[in-house]
Amino acid sequence: MKAVQKLEHGVGYLGCVAVEEPKPTYGSVKIKIEFCGICGSDLHIVGGFETPTSPLPIPFTMGHEYSGTIAEIGEGVTQFKVGDRVTGIVTKGFCGKCRSCLMGDIGRCQDAINIGYECDGAMAEYICMPEGATFKLPDNVSLEEGALVEPAAVAAHAVLENVDIKPTDTVVVMGAGPIGLLVLQFIKACGAKTILADISSANARLELGKKLGADYTFENDKCNVIQEVRALTFGKGADFVFECTGVDIVITQSIMMTKRAGTIVELALTSAEGSNIKAYIVAVMQNMRIQFSYGHNLGTWQKTLQMMADGRINTKDLVTHKFKFEDFDEAFECNDANKIKVLLHP
Ligand SMILES: [Zn+2]
Ligand SMILES: [Zn+2]
Repeated sequence: MKAVQKLEHGVGYLGCVAVEEPKPTYGSVKIKIEFCGICGSDLHIVGGFETPTSPLPIPFTMGHEYSGTIAEIGEGVTQFKVGDRVTGIVTKGFCGKCRSCLMGDIGRCQDAINIGYECDGAMAEYICMPEGATFKLPDNVSLEEGALVEPAAVAAHAVLENVDIKPTDTVVVMGAGPIGLLVLQFIKACGAKTILADISSANARLELGKKLGADYTFENDKCNVIQEVRALTFGKGADFVFECTGVDIVITQSIMMTKRAGTIVELALTSAEGSNIKAYIVAVMQNMRIQFSYGHNLGTWQKTLQMMADGRINTKDLVTHKFKFEDFDEAFECNDANKIKVLLHP
């Protein structure tokens, strides 16, 4: 079968290669991949980034934002049948017995490994996944939208599970990429006032942000966004700022626009060098909270799928480009001004 693999350590080295088709083991399902999104973290991997704690298992198949149909079921599988439309959590190997697993937090199981950077991922014609990590797509959620459940769950975890947002809050989202636009929608669902900021070259994204519920949008390179946020909050600053860029200066801005004892939620991964150490003193002296947010759990996925089925979270408008696996080069290098989410398909 075809698979988009990272073939060597370092910058680049992607290829669309022929690999052996996987076979479902006990309790796992074989999924025929329909769509797999390119995530910001995939771009970091292709850019040569490796986490110090887990070197990449070269060569391996990329991708963790997928949807597909069940092609085959392994022994012991009871919840799925061939033809079911599914998506799933990025985690394999979890034990199912430890406290994290019993709490539904399978990603934090000691035995868990993540597809697409710790083992083979979903940019392939087929993937085998544990039944317990697989979710049926609601009938009114398309396979295309299904490939965005994973990033939507990342946003849901940050907004609904790591902090407590009230309708009286003013909340800023820094960065109008896929995660920023999803975070915005979950904040909107909490009833808060929303402000979205990005640089002017991301204007198409800011426009979509307005459509998806941003009360105010700002072009960060054309105005003083810290002053704008203070002006909208009687000078006090935002209750919450969601930092979705990983850019040095934006992290500093996020601290500078947060109110005394307010909260900065940091979701972004970054491979950039830089130091925000000077801004930290402001965060200390204003008694701020910095909440990091990563991943999701089984409960997050249920909430996310429910809200997508209810039409409260729009993932459809985020898909701007689709490429075949063979055209991975074009897909990974896509730099159109209107680009938001790029999907690959077999
Ligand atoms: Zn992702
Ligand atoms: Zn476990």
